[in-house]
Amino acid sequence: MSGDRLRPVAAHETDGIPRALDLGMRTGFGDDRLSVGALKIYTDGGMMARTAALTSPYEGLDHTGQLQDDPEILTNLIVDGHLAGWQLAVHAIGDRAADVALDALDRAQRLRPRPEARHRIEHAGLIRPDQLPRFARLGVSAVVQPNFLRYFGDDYASIMGVERAPWLYRGRAFLDHGIALVGSSDRPVADGSPLRAVQFMVERASTSGQVIGPDEGITVDEALHAYTVAGAHACHWEDSLGSLTPGKRADLVVLGDDPRRVDTSRIGDIEVVETYVDGRPRRPRV
Ligand SMILES: [Zn+2]
Repeated sequence: MSGDRLRPVAAHETDGIPRALDLGMRTGFGDDRLSVGALKIYTDGGMMARTAALTSPYEGLDHTGQLQDDPEILTNLIVDGHLAGWQLAVHAIGDRAADVALDALDRAQRLRPRPEARHRIEHAGLIRPDQLPRFARLGVSAVVQPNFLRYFGDDYASIMGVERAPWLYRGRAFLDHGIALVGSSDRPVADGSPLRAVQFMVERASTSGQVIGPDEGITVDEALHAYTVAGAHACHWEDSLGSLTPGKRADLVVLGDDPRRVDTSRIGDIEVVETYVDGRPRRPRV
């Protein structure tokens, strides 16, 4: 759900809900096959178009990207979404956008604490060192798309320059700060393969072989966790998905090899042999 769909509703004054979706629908409405997820709020653009909002200019350009709107307007939307009971997925790619998102989430949680909201920052593409403790303090998860760097990393690293390139789509730093690291694809903007993304999270190598921020590499187990357990938790689905556990839905794949045993450079090429949905095998239609 996109944040701009919220509109003034006739909530009682004491409900403290300035804006909402009609009928009060919000995160969690639906069932386990089709449901309303988080409210997505766009604070900036993207690296490819040089519209991700940065605090310092792009390398070789004389601008810093752009926010989607005046910071006060974005902040009010984030706060109102929080007050209306939504889980928020705040799109912030540049570090300036992340400042806006973190400031707004801070304000929202002060106004009405919702420790179980599990708000997320989607992308978290360029995060300065000083911003990491703020994620942790606010309990905000970082939902990253490692395949952006696998396929576009050479370009991204050059427009960030040597100081900032290691801050792109971090892994290790999030985990070291106790921040929930969640793997995502942003398909169809980028390639959807989780195994190729897992490979990148471990080796941090773009398709040309350039290693971007090697200190941000994580282990295979940590990367698999980001795409399974952490992903389910970020969607409030940890009771039914994310791990092979009695009582959960048996949604799983059988892989042709063990990602923890093959050479890292081969993880992305491991074959998916079988796919099970709710315990039943699903075969591709031919
Ligand atoms: Zn986005």
